[in-house]
Amino acid sequence: MRYRELRRCDNLKVSAIALGCEGFIEKSKEEHKNMLDRAMELGVNFIDMYTSNPRFRDNMGYSVKGKRDKIVLQGHICSAWENGQYLRTRDIQKTKIAFEDQLKRLGTDYIDIGMIHYIDSIDDFRAVFDGDIIEYCNRLKKSGTIRAVGLSSHNPIVAKKAVETGYIDVLMFSVNAAYDMQPPDEDVEQLWNPENYKNGLININPERKELYELCERNNVAIDVMKAFGGGDMLNAKLSPFGVAFSEYQCIEYCLTRPGVVSVMAGCRSADEIEKVVSYFDSSKEERDYSVVLSEMEKFKFFGNCMYCGHCAPCTVGIDIADVNKYVNLSVAQGKVPETVSDHYKLLSHHGGECVECGKCEENCPFGVEIIQKMKNAVKIFGY
Ligand code: SF4
Ligand code: SF4
Repeated sequence: MRYRELRRCDNLKVSAIALGCEGFIEKSKEEHKNMLDRAMELGVNFIDMYTSNPRFRDNMGYSVKGKRDKIVLQGHICSAWENGQYLRTRDIQKTKIAFEDQLKRLGTDYIDIGMIHYIDSIDDFRAVFDGDIIEYCNRLKKSGTIRAVGLSSHNPIVAKKAVETGYIDVLMFSVNAAYDMQPPDEDVEQLWNPENYKNGLININPERKELYELCERNNVAIDVMKAFGGGDMLNAKLSPFGVAFSEYQCIEYCLTRPGVVSVMAGCRSADEIEKVVSYFDSSKEERDYSVVLSEMEKFKFFGNCMYCGHCAPCTVGIDIADVNKYVNLSVAQGKVPETVSDHYKLLSHHGGECVECGKCEENCPFGVEIIQKMKNAVKIFGY
């Protein structure tokens, strides 16, 4: 397992492969515990709990008893339970009752990440950020009842606005190569509407790219939902691209987006957890998503670095994907953010070492002008 830091949360370390909770909802208490124990044995220490289902919360409380400090819990705010059903609410009283119920059933006095349950529209964004909900979250954080404020969304415009408020420490966002090509929409269904893919698409949507870069620059950690597109990305007949990715390729794609710290996998059994965690034992070739992306006919990624690493190894050992990322983060900002120049400095080799052999450009499936990128790095960082 690899761990990454939530930089705005005392550098709390979370596993790069984490769990969604949907596969736990129908489980018995013992099944729930066994699945979580197996995940933790494999090094998973991070789980999202979007559901307000009381049975799930009770089972979770039973499963984390005695090991609460070993697991990072992402609990949702505004996810309530009414008339035996889940309810997304912005009512402050219902929100408070649901959050206190969560603490009680989990048998804990704190939640690591208090995640504002999903906001996809501008009107809803205003209702939350101009109203009682954000104040409630800030009070919870100040009192230590939550360690970080999070927000879940499928819409990059809303997510960017939320990150720009400065209140958001963690963003839960839908990321996979297909959704990344779609323009923003307040209707989440549009992400998988086949009509939106039938004429083909070119490159990552600029708003999504900007969102990931903004999060990276502002130290806002992205944890990913829908990395497999609900399973569709793994099946050539269901995939919006008409070709199948492997689990490893989907995970690698997400973990190489700027800002991303974790992929929340919606596993339904210990076997499925073992499969996704085996990503860390997979070869570079098994993870390489560029081979799928570059062979599609109607969907083209061209001219922009995808951070896939397919061009490696560089003759002089430069991590080309990382250099490109720091160049892009600086160009987007118009100046060099201190965090970015610090990260650049930590690289073992820098753009200035490029001997212009051209090997990498022959290997890049996306036509990136890498030698020019290395020259840009020298212009920006000085070496
Ligand atoms: S330069 Fe090309 S091959 Fe290298 S990481 Fe970027 S997109 Fe991938
Ligand atoms: S052209 Fe530069 S960056 Fe590319 S492989 Fe050669 S030395 Fe490395």
